[in-house]
Amino acid sequence: MRYISTRGRSPALSFEEVVLTGMASDGGLYVPAEIPTLSHDELSAMAGLSYAEIAFRVMKPYVNGEIDDATFRGIVEEAYATFSHDAVVPLNQLDANHFLLELFHGPTLAFKDVALQLLGRLLDHFLRKRGERAVIMGATSGDTGSAAIEGCRHCDNLDIFILHPYQRVSEVQRRQMTTVLADNVFNIAIEGNFDDAQAMVKASFADQGFLGGTRLVAVNSINWARIMAQIVYYVASAVALGAPHRAVSFCVPSANFGNVFAGYMAKRMGLPVTQFIIATNANDILHRTLADNDFSKQELVATLAPSMDIVVSSNFERLLFEAYERDGAAVKALLERFQHEPTALAEAPLARLRESFASHSVDDATLLEVIREAHHRTQQILDPHTATGYRAAEVCRGDAAVPVITLATAHPAKFAEAVVKAGFPGVPLPPHMDDLLEREERYTVLPAELSAVQQFVAENRR
Ligand SMILES: *Cc1c(COP(=O)(O)O)cnc(C)c1O
Repeated sequence: MRYISTRGRSPALSFEEVVLTGMASDGGLYVPAEIPTLSHDELSAMAGLSYAEIAFRVMKPYVNGEIDDATFRGIVEEAYATFSHDAVVPLNQLDANHFLLELFHGPTLAFKDVALQLLGRLLDHFLRKRGERAVIMGATSGDTGSAAIEGCRHCDNLDIFILHPYQRVSEVQRRQMTTVLADNVFNIAIEGNFDDAQAMVKASFADQGFLGGTRLVAVNSINWARIMAQIVYYVASAVALGAPHRAVSFCVPSANFGNVFAGYMAKRMGLPVTQFIIATNANDILHRTLADNDFSKQELVATLAPSMDIVVSSNFERLLFEAYERDGAAVKALLERFQHEPTALAEAPLARLRESFASHSVDDATLLEVIREAHHRTQQILDPHTATGYRAAEVCRGDAAVPVITLATAHPAKFAEAVVKAGFPGVPLPPHMDDLLEREERYTVLPAELSAVQQFVAENRR
């Protein structure tokens, strides 16, 4: 199996190369050259298996024999042993046919742990094999940074530098990053906003001279391994509800589209999925595109579901590549136009997308109502991201006989602001984190100057 770029101009890569690479040199994203399939019998045989075993079987064709089976099994088992629930991602039945897939039992209480617990270990494995070290740099306004730090803290061959805007992330989110006191973890608080931090990370990737030849790696959701890891829970949850003998639908709170794209890959591999429902907050580019064919950027809106606050949805490019029947030149032309002006998809690709995807957008006022309504009906408090999904599932689901699985992307304790605004006293952190607010923190405050940040990284990497 080789990996090719969605813009059709970069050389094909092996799995190992694609894990270490991130974005393609032509500006595109890597996808598998052929999509492997899971037969009816292979899916049937997954009933009753552990999450780690299903993960091994689903991901094995993507790894392409580049890691031997015993080693890869070990990596997968270690990654998912960090989750606090024995089922790793348990299903929680809300009513006759609506389920929550709880993806928040990992170390940082959000679904990004599922991919990043695996990605850190994969990177470490390949670097050890090559006798190399690498530096990870990322900018975060919340969830990604802490999940990346937790995924890399035990990796000997990696040093990770995460930039967050000083005094502009919530205390829980900051502490989830800054209380990890491992020798290879460096938190930098930038005296600026998230965009300043993001711009410095981008500039560092564009010109890596300051690292004197050491590889710089990105762990954002354009890394193929993150998509691959997320395919697993679509398969595991559908099998738990009777797939391949019964079809299910999924509703996914979405931003950069990495999560729901993984679901689409599961379907292409052979999982029977009736419908994907995309839930967005007021930052609704995905909904506008699907509903009105309005593929255009709009101002960023700060919402109560902040991990879904985006202007551009980076992984949507991977779906466009499929919708345009893998015509890299057409995708390149569309996305270049999109950078400069409002645009629209061609008719046939849009029709193809509408066969599989529905969408709904939920604003902040509605979101608070949904948290109250869901609590009234189910006695459960949803996190604000999950709440957008809960509403979208109810609005968009077609056949009521098909079970719908809404992805619960974060634990409600992590986003107390919305929960309190909805009129609840808040939700306690789970027991293994209840001393988070007393733990020792470590971080370095730096001015929003590229040279200061690069000097800090160059001096502190091991
Ligand atoms: C990152 C995140 C999302 C959005 O996921 P995408 O893969 O970017 O679509 C939704 N909810 C939470 C809690 C997140 O952290």
